[in-house]
Amino acid sequence: MTEALQKSALQELVARLEFYRELGIYDFYRRGVADDAMILPASTNEEVEIANVAIRAAAEVSHAVEVASPASPAPVLSSAIPNPVHSPVPSPNFEESTIPRRTLVSNQPVPPLVSFGPVLPGAQRPAALAAIRDLIGDCQRCRLAQGRNKIVFADGDANAQLMFVGEGPGADEDAQGLPFVGRAGQLLNNMIGAMGLKREQVYIANIVKCRPPQNRKPEPDEAHTCMPFLERQIEVVRPRVLVALGATAATYLLGMRGSIASMRGRIHDYRGIQTVVTYHPAFLLRDPAQKKEAWKDLQMAMSALGIKAPSRAPQA
Ligand code: URA
Repeated sequence: MTEALQKSALQELVARLEFYRELGIYDFYRRGVADDAMILPASTNEEVEIANVAIRAAAEVSHAVEVASPASPAPVLSSAIPNPVHSPVPSPNFEESTIPRRTLVSNQPVPPLVSFGPVLPGAQRPAALAAIRDLIGDCQRCRLAQGRNKIVFADGDANAQLMFVGEGPGADEDAQGLPFVGRAGQLLNNMIGAMGLKREQVYIANIVKCRPPQNRKPEPDEAHTCMPFLERQIEVVRPRVLVALGATAATYLLGMRGSIASMRGRIHDYRGIQTVVTYHPAFLLRDPAQKKEAWKDLQMAMSALGIKAPSRAPQA
């Protein structure tokens, strides 16, 4: 195949990948059969793997094209993309998505979607996180930039074994530049304390890093624009256990839609990391009767971490 044809096949696959993301399928990897509520039917796994290979290949190709000087030999592309005879380009069989496309309002770079690399030595993680923060810069990649005061990157230990992911900053977080510092944050601190841990021992971040106006849910394009940074943070910290706080976190981490009730009570897989879904602390403030259910979720996270649960539920 000519290089031009290979590039156009790759472009088509990259566009396909973007389309999956609009459907709420953020990233691609095999899941266990237990995830029966997942959006992606099992029959599309092969297509998904092709798209996954393609995005990696596309990154390799664009890098190879960028670095090749005119005098250099043409980059060898054939091994970087699937053979179209054996792995045909999948043709979309979905209706056109109504979810808005990612709206980039600037040309600021976004990390490419790639599989997790090797685990970083603990001593290098703070600098790696700082590099992600630098890449975010004075972010103007989506409309949330217009109303925010501070970008809320994360808080906690770069070597944490437990990571919490919320939805997005509220007013207190926007003012202070730290996640979960308002009333919901106070309850989250209590939940962490009930697990026998300190806030400084865990890592806390959100799906979006800028406050949505009137604390509304992040729009899909805003979440998709911000997710590559969170994904990189998770890759660097590489916690043993992730806790998704609320439906927004669960949806964008796991590519699942549904009620929290339908996602609780089992361990999910986020790229090989055991992931527990529980109620958002702001919901628990409105419906304190659910705290005992949330405590069951946290106990599940504790047993995945191999730490002992205190015998009494918290009185938060
Ligand atoms: N709610 C969230 O989801 N994240 C925060 O940081 C604060 C409140």
